Amino acid sequence: MMRQYELLERVTRYNPEADEGLLNKAYVYAMQKHGSQMRASGDPYFSHPLEVAAILTNMRLDDATIAVALLHDTIEDTDATRAEIDTLFGEEIGKLVEGLTKIKRLDLVSQKAKQAENFRKLLLAIADDVRVLLVKLADRLHNMRTLDHMPEHKRGRIAEETMEIYAPLAGRMGMQDMREELENLSFRTLHAEAYETITERLTTLRTDNAELIVQIEQTLTERLQERGMAAVVKGREKRPYSIFRKMQRKAIGFEQLSDIYGFRVTVGTVEACYRVLGIIHTAWPTVPGRFKDYISTPKQNDYQSIHTTIVGPSRQRVELQIRTISMDRVAELGIAAHALYKDGLTGGRNIARHTDDSKAYEWLRRTIDLLSEGDTPEEFLENTKLELFHDQVFCFTPKGRLIALPSRATPIDFAYAVHTDVGNTCVGCKVNGQIVPLVTELHNGDEVEIIRSQAQTPPPAWENIAITGKARAAIRRSTRETVRKQYLALGEHVLKRALDRASKSYSEEALKACAVHFQKTGASDLLEAIGHGELSAQDVIKQLYPDYQDERAAHNVIIPGEGWFGLQQGHGLKFRIPAGAHLSLAKSEADSEDEGDVDSTALLIRGLNGNVAVNFAKEGGAVPGDRIVGILTPSEGVTIYPIQSPALKDFEDQTDRWIDVRWDIEADNSDRFPARIIIHAINTPGSLAAIAQVIGEQNGNIDNVKMLRRSPDFHEMVIDLEVWDLKHLNRIINMLRDRPTVSSVVRVNG
Ligand code: MN
Repeated sequence: MMRQYELLERVTRYNPEADEGLLNKAYVYAMQKHGSQMRASGDPYFSHPLEVAAILTNMRLDDATIAVALLHDTIEDTDATRAEIDTLFGEEIGKLVEGLTKIKRLDLVSQKAKQAENFRKLLLAIADDVRVLLVKLADRLHNMRTLDHMPEHKRGRIAEETMEIYAPLAGRMGMQDMREELENLSFRTLHAEAYETITERLTTLRTDNAELIVQIEQTLTERLQERGMAAVVKGREKRPYSIFRKMQRKAIGFEQLSDIYGFRVTVGTVEACYRVLGIIHTAWPTVPGRFKDYISTPKQNDYQSIHTTIVGPSRQRVELQIRTISMDRVAELGIAAHALYKDGLTGGRNIARHTDDSKAYEWLRRTIDLLSEGDTPEEFLENTKLELFHDQVFCFTPKGRLIALPSRATPIDFAYAVHTDVGNTCVGCKVNGQIVPLVTELHNGDEVEIIRSQAQTPPPAWENIAITGKARAAIRRSTRETVRKQYLALGEHVLKRALDRASKSYSEEALKACAVHFQKTGASDLLEAIGHGELSAQDVIKQLYPDYQDERAAHNVIIPGEGWFGLQQGHGLKFRIPAGAHLSLAKSEADSEDEGDVDSTALLIRGLNGNVAVNFAKEGGAVPGDRIVGILTPSEGVTIYPIQSPALKDFEDQTDRWIDVRWDIEADNSDRFPARIIIHAINTPGSLAAIAQVIGEQNGNIDNVKMLRRSPDFHEMVIDLEVWDLKHLNRIINMLRDRPTVSSVVRVNG
């Protein structure tokens, strides 16, 4: 096991200004915390964090990252706490260690996660600092190096996860060394036979070619030295996994591979790279079409190098990469090669140092863009923060399906994201095995299990808990369905009672037959219309039993302009108008319909963008405060309906047209909105005047009054009002209900 002073030496070799006190403290703390814990190999547990730290010193990372590596398993595996680490090492290190703890917990969930790409995003969401990812990759590398000590049944899963998630992640962070080693270690576990075969062949090849490789290295070095160039030439062997992949991709055998060996020439300056290229191209013939200059045009991940292939000293094809030492470092270490951190690689020799911070920043930014694959997040990056997916949370179903939600989402949003039926039948939930309230905010990596009951319908209040449009729209649709059923039950009740009084019998069959007459689709449609007053029970009975005498006929009083329910026009109506009330009588149905089409494009409604035309349903009825839905009509825009509007029935099957909208009206808004109420009042002198007076006192405008029925004892009328909002309307309705002469006040919708 590496000694304390050895670790310190490794760090101070490339970073003389490293905080030795910090490193010593972390070493001692982690060693004490892990105490007598053992690894599967039988080694003391502490050897693991120490090796992880060693891997990171090879990458020449800053002292904070090395300290985090030493501490990375303490919160999860010992009695250490975040608070304790904060106190001893500062909040920055505490936060990084906690990030690693979260990822470690995630490993348990990842067994089930099949979508590697999403899992990688999840990882990024949790690791909000590049250093967390660097330590995690080093941690995984050491675990892969010691995988043989793990029980056999666990090896496959760990290797698979490494191949699918961690190796590509290292690759995208530009860390080619890390990627290749992770791939090879996984390959050895996942395809043991193929690995063995290729390794054996490589060993043979290496023995056969050992002399040749040395010869090429020497000849190249000498030729360059003759021309005054100090260059290092090194032969490289392709790794087994790269060979395996190339054989698979090109469907060729081992013997047909021509590029198992490559040579790399490293020099001090960019200028030297081109001089080396000139010398080599003059000395040996080149293979056409194999020259690439990634120095003048770097790859997207900042990779720089000159590639060329020559027919070499022994008449063999020789692949060459020519680059500077700092380019080499970037190519091998990627993101880790950059001095990103304020207390970072300040004293390094031969290190690519960016005194210009913005270059490192730019590099990181581009890398993150690559990591995010095609998303174009802007302004998300602050220093070393990975804030890419901070507006999302990633959760799992018990079967391991990954569900991405906006941050602050609740289990209700989760349920609807899984399936609308799951949402509609949700009654409770478990998060990570614990029953929690449905208002609970979900966090990254949560496993969410929805408890369902077929008897459930979503309570309207959920609309305020859910934050996704999908969930809210579904809750409204479902609420509407419930309201519809209530109307249906009410209509049935009203009709049955009326039939009883008329001594006629109720038959669903007969009802179905007469529905067509009222342009209804069936019995329930007809009953629903009766329920919300669109049809009268008397008219339906008349249709069912043509000989039936309408009991209303004797009592009806007809009002000017009345066109409702087939009442005749031409009779007068007497009542007085109190001062202060705005009352307009005797409007014809046609007139009021023209005005009923309120064009309120000036009105702000949340959930729509500014380019969409907003209309209100012709029947009106939606006032601010009402729960509303928008229905999209291509080329016409969006029409707003109150949730209880019967007109919405026509759109029930077209759920894609339903739009999640909300009022967005200023508190001091002075616009008025039309609403309609039906009043039953006792027929005494002055009762109508009293009604008008109440409305006037409450500052409501009466736009229109229609008398529906009038008997010696009561009258029933429709009043069209203009109000500011739902609160205003409800206040008027309540004040009216308080009047002793008023027996009922009901709001009419659509
Ligand atoms: Mn570990």
